Amino acid sequence: MNKMTKEHLSIYIHYPFCKSKCPYCDFNSHVSKSIDAQRFLSAYEKELEFFSAKISAKTLTNDQSSKREVTSIFFGGGTPSLMPIFLVEGILKKISELWHVKKDCEISLEANPTSFESSKFKALRSIGINRLSLGIQALNDEDLKFLGREHSAKEAITTIELTQKIFDNFSFDLIYARPSQTLKDWRNELERAIDFGSKHLSLYQLTIEKGTKFFSQFQQKKFVMPDEELSAQFYEMTNEITAANAFELYEISNYAKNNLFCRHNLVYWQGGDYLGIGAGAHSRLYFADENRYALMMLHEPNSWLKKVEEVGAGIQKLEKISSAELAQELILMGLRLVDGIDESIFLQHLQKKFNEIFAMEKLQALERSGLIEIGSSNIKIPSNKRLLTNTIVAKVCDCLMQ
Ligand code: SF4
Repeated sequence: MNKMTKEHLSIYIHYPFCKSKCPYCDFNSHVSKSIDAQRFLSAYEKELEFFSAKISAKTLTNDQSSKREVTSIFFGGGTPSLMPIFLVEGILKKISELWHVKKDCEISLEANPTSFESSKFKALRSIGINRLSLGIQALNDEDLKFLGREHSAKEAITTIELTQKIFDNFSFDLIYARPSQTLKDWRNELERAIDFGSKHLSLYQLTIEKGTKFFSQFQQKKFVMPDEELSAQFYEMTNEITAANAFELYEISNYAKNNLFCRHNLVYWQGGDYLGIGAGAHSRLYFADENRYALMMLHEPNSWLKKVEEVGAGIQKLEKISSAELAQELILMGLRLVDGIDESIFLQHLQKKFNEIFAMEKLQALERSGLIEIGSSNIKIPSNKRLLTNTIVAKVCDCLMQ
């Protein structure tokens, strides 16, 4: 997997609109009757310009490469496949004016499989999108309806077939461990999904998040979720089926063939710098003052729009990240990866080795209890403990020296 450095930059573009709100969704997505796409393009451009002036090239010295190199761009949402083509194209053009975009830059866009959206795929490919991430979620109409999705299973299948013809690199998401889904149902569905030939799958267990429609329905006992034991069986079976089909599990919920890992998401998990543009987007990056910052943009699209128009960026929160916070973030993100956290990431950010960051005797006690494995240059969670990731992350953070 690629290792990120401070000369690299990944850019996330958030498009905060959807046709309707899915009942499980806690993303920053809004339903709006009309959207002034031209006005949004100007705001995205303005915010990109604002940050290009602030971001350091850190270790680069010669003028020619004084700008950072953009290694990945990701259009997420919301539903970015609803964006008019000129909006996606305009943003890509602005990015390449402001930064050097690496020749093999991964440029992903999330798409929903309705016919309206799939009719744009050719045009998206022609303007530079080279990876499509499809929100399929289920392959039967009953569950798609339960999940509040706008597409049918037939549309999902037609869209996957079309995507295969246009994109060499595409992924699709499925949500499993749904109420009333049996292990056998999921086995059949996953095997069918694998047969479509995608080289990347994101397979998430349904979770009930506070503030969603599902949260209140679940509290009113309108449906029952699988218990812990069944969830664990779902996860184990998912890993077995994907492994039997030559998929490599590289992050808790992400599987790839032929090393086609999502390079953009690896930046999050490996502590790389990313700039998030658009309503509700988050960033983690070094500015020209050599400090690393955490940023969050205003969530409400019109508030974001107005603030960008007034001051150049729709920032809601901007905080300098302390060394202690940074170490915790690197652990939180890094332990999601099957390979865990590499010591080089701590060296790069904090100029410290494991034994200068952690109380090693405490870390070794965790290893003896089977919760982590300490390698020559990495710390990872053993496969049979992956479902305890959140608990283990807290315990590893407790091993940090004060
Ligand atoms: S399409 Fe995606 S972002 Fe939009 S409401 Fe549904 S889950 Fe949320």
